[in-house]
Amino acid sequence: MPSLFKIPVSQLWGIGKIKENAFNRLGIYTVGDLLEFYPKNYEDWSDPLCISDAHIFSSSHHNIPCCVQATIKRIYEPRIVRNNMTIYKVEAKDEYNNYMTVTFFNQYYTYQKLIQGEEYLFYGVVKDSDYGYQMSSPSVLDLSNMCIHPVYPQTANLTTKQIEFAVKQAINMLPEKVNDPLPTEILQKYNLCDLAYAVKNIHFPQNQQALSLAKERLIFEELLILQLGMARLKGGRHEETAHKINKDFTKEFFKILPFKPTNAQKRAISECISDMKENDYPMNRLVQGDVGSGKTAVAAAVCYSAVKNSLQCAFMAPTEILAEQHYRTFTELFRDTDITVGLLTGSMRASQKKKIQEQIKNGEINITIGTHALISDKVEFDSLGLVITDEQHRFGVAQRAKLIAKGNEPHILVMSATPIPRTLALMIFGDLDLSVLDEMPPGRQKIDTILINSSMKQKTYNFIKKELDKGRQCYIVCPLVTQNTENNLISAEEYSDILDRTVLKNYRRAVLHGKMKASEKEKIMRDFSSGNIDIIIATTVIEVGIDVPNSTIIMIENSERFGLSQLHQLRGRVGRGKHKSYCILVSDIQKESTLERLNVMCKTNDGFKIADEDLKLRGPGDFFGARQHGLPELKIANLSNVSSVENSKQAVQTILESDPALSMKEHRGLYVETQRLFSAVGTTERLQ
Ligand code: ADP
Ligand code: MG
Repeated sequence: MPSLFKIPVSQLWGIGKIKENAFNRLGIYTVGDLLEFYPKNYEDWSDPLCISDAHIFSSSHHNIPCCVQATIKRIYEPRIVRNNMTIYKVEAKDEYNNYMTVTFFNQYYTYQKLIQGEEYLFYGVVKDSDYGYQMSSPSVLDLSNMCIHPVYPQTANLTTKQIEFAVKQAINMLPEKVNDPLPTEILQKYNLCDLAYAVKNIHFPQNQQALSLAKERLIFEELLILQLGMARLKGGRHEETAHKINKDFTKEFFKILPFKPTNAQKRAISECISDMKENDYPMNRLVQGDVGSGKTAVAAAVCYSAVKNSLQCAFMAPTEILAEQHYRTFTELFRDTDITVGLLTGSMRASQKKKIQEQIKNGEINITIGTHALISDKVEFDSLGLVITDEQHRFGVAQRAKLIAKGNEPHILVMSATPIPRTLALMIFGDLDLSVLDEMPPGRQKIDTILINSSMKQKTYNFIKKELDKGRQCYIVCPLVTQNTENNLISAEEYSDILDRTVLKNYRRAVLHGKMKASEKEKIMRDFSSGNIDIIIATTVIEVGIDVPNSTIIMIENSERFGLSQLHQLRGRVGRGKHKSYCILVSDIQKESTLERLNVMCKTNDGFKIADEDLKLRGPGDFFGARQHGLPELKIANLSNVSSVENSKQAVQTILESDPALSMKEHRGLYVETQRLFSAVGTTERLQ
């Protein structure tokens, strides 16, 4: 029997091209993927209430809907109230002779199925009124549906009911005996249910208890696999280092640095140097500092001493723009030294790349700055002794491991502006040491952040004009590259036309987005850096790291589309020099929760506080998400599952003590699953 991860979803009944695309958008390609697409919520239809109890339940639980069992006593004639609105009403009675009026708006499909005298399940909120109990727009099903129903995240062209229908078929395709990656011993020790039971009950729980069991088991498994994978990637980081350095050259470096380092920078640098100089094992350190705290200078200082001690360095940045910027900074900084700096990015010409690769291999280049092109198999180093990754959260854990593997136990320095909660940091980095840049370079002024709606935009353009006339520069950020007719979001490409109709029409501007050729991007950034462009209209490509101290305004359109931490990163593009800077958030969304979220930005400039708020508002599940930290995407677990975190940690230790390579027969399933989690290839023996 082929693995369910090899059968495309399109083989299920009722899934044509459009639905298949919709499933793909949700990351579901195969029947196996579908079974791992867990409900985001459940509707409990398993234990229906009578009408009066349902009223008490809903009114005491902030109007949460619930399930009511009642018989249709009367069906009223439909009433057309407007051109586009028909109201359908029925009267239903429960076994205690309570009556309720059920109203449907335009739901002809539901209404026409109802038969007088038949009993049904109604899922909705029962309200009390002068005319007795009322229920509006419930879902209605017949009595055979008395169970817990899954609610899936929906997307265009795919409703939760349609997903449920597909999942039902997928469950029926499960083989009689499902291979369980968790060894029996572990299942017993931690009282966990087996995989088949968990998969069935996470989608269609028999009852609440079965649902808890299923969740507990799947969360445990996910955390276990994550930690096993991390442990294997890190494997043996306490090996002896071949790259211990003899001498600290920081003083010499400070002479070429064009500014006086902050105390925080000095401390971080000296911690790094001491790691490389005093310990017998390689440095493994995270430098955490809010946007603008000066992490690049720390990286440069550490590279300087490393190179002077004959180590080769690699510095990996998440975007080409950022890699190029670092390259320019380093080249300028080391201009009058004998240190050689090279750049390697994916979009360079093949011949250029080849030349650089040769120079890296024969040791002519001391410091290579690049994007993930650095981890290509073609790149070989002469004596890689120091690996630095900037904006770490952008990289997959596996990518980092791959770069590290190019050296012989090199020193590792990770730089991140994202404050990471401690439990999370421990999981991701294990034994990583931490330096914090808790001080900003001198002379920075507070960035003023204001939230406006579109009606205030003309005024804002006037304000921007004044700043530009003073010689400053400006970013305008749009959520999209190209206009999309399905939504009302503003795109970078159309924005230039918008500006043509404003007071900003005569200023030099350029559009910058991720889909452009690298050479074009680089040219625009260079022109912007040197002041030949006044306004950059960009997508979030400018989010990480871009450093042009003369820009003082960033205006973010449709700002409700961005997460708080992301907005903070974007805001970090201004306020980097001596001039007063401004961040203008534009949003026409009236929703209170949205306004509350955006107002957090107006109240504080402190990245750590913002990350906290973000965590509170979005919940740990989201924060734990892959894109934030370079972890593989977790499907069900999050940090609030405290006991599962603890138990799985303990299990990981036991397993690795007896079988570090996961080569024993009973650990085969675990081995396969760790491979799958980190490779995201999606082929596995699970569910065979
Ligand atoms: P980030 O921590 O966000 O990566 P950068 O390293 O890009 O910050 O530094 C932000 C800006 O501050 C840069 O223009 C840099 O030259 C400048 N800078 C860094 N350290 C200092 C310092 N000690 N004194 C003055 N300016 C500094
Ligand atoms: Mg930076």
